[in-house]
Amino acid sequence: MRVHILGTAAAEGWPAVFCGCDTCRRARAAGGKDLRTRSSVQIDDDYKIDLPPDTFHHILRHNLDLSALKYLFVTHTHTDHFARHELEFILPGFSHGLSNGPLRIWGNEAVVERLQWLARRPDAPVTVSPAEPFVPITADHLTFTPILAEHAPPEQCLNYVVNSETAAVLYACDTGMYGKTTMEHLAAYRFDLMIVECTFGDTNHRPIHHMTFAGVLQLRDRLAKAHAVDSRTEIVITHFSHNMGRLHDEMVSIAAPEGVIVAYDGMTLETA
Ligand SMILES: [Zn+2]
Ligand SMILES: [Zn+2]
Ligand SMILES: [Zn+2]
Repeated sequence: MRVHILGTAAAEGWPAVFCGCDTCRRARAAGGKDLRTRSSVQIDDDYKIDLPPDTFHHILRHNLDLSALKYLFVTHTHTDHFARHELEFILPGFSHGLSNGPLRIWGNEAVVERLQWLARRPDAPVTVSPAEPFVPITADHLTFTPILAEHAPPEQCLNYVVNSETAAVLYACDTGMYGKTTMEHLAAYRFDLMIVECTFGDTNHRPIHHMTFAGVLQLRDRLAKAHAVDSRTEIVITHFSHNMGRLHDEMVSIAAPEGVIVAYDGMTLETA
């Protein structure tokens, strides 16, 4: 699997849209890896997780061709992950030559409900299907298993485990520390790669529905105990808020001693 990390910011982006804080000022001055857009990943050419409001920017910056996209898996309806209005532009007249249409969209009940306007149109080149927690979805050569995130109830927010024949990847974004059911489910895997949100960095925040760096290490250690993570597992952190106060290199100097990789927009990862 080739995992292309398109965006690595929390909801407000970084520099945040209207923010004049010191961290955003420093990010504007530094540029490069300190400019973070809203979170999403593309896997190989056919698969994408989430449709953030920066999708058009991602197309321009990374030369993506979403006319070839075959599967879109949505985690939840927060606007930084699900800019549903962009899907209007897949309709006839706005888009032509979809090489893998219809685009198959999967999401929780709230996502499916918010896409009814599109799914009901007979000319819309999409299918919209409900993703049930822990029920695997086979999508050509990959399997996506939705897992229950700890995020923004009462919406049943999802994260995904992505499996090829030889590799297992966890996309843990957005979530707080997983509950018992999800932890028990994850114990059955042996992860090659985990991409985990770290919204609050190494701050002293104690978020329930997001993660800190300490939380990421705790998740790693709990999964290591269950043999789902070992020394070969790459652990990558993403979905950063400017409120964490660390620029990219500063976060790298905190994460690297723990063997954790700090994602940046455009980073590409390969698994077997
Ligand atoms: Zn988010
Ligand atoms: Zn700021
Ligand atoms: Zn969210």
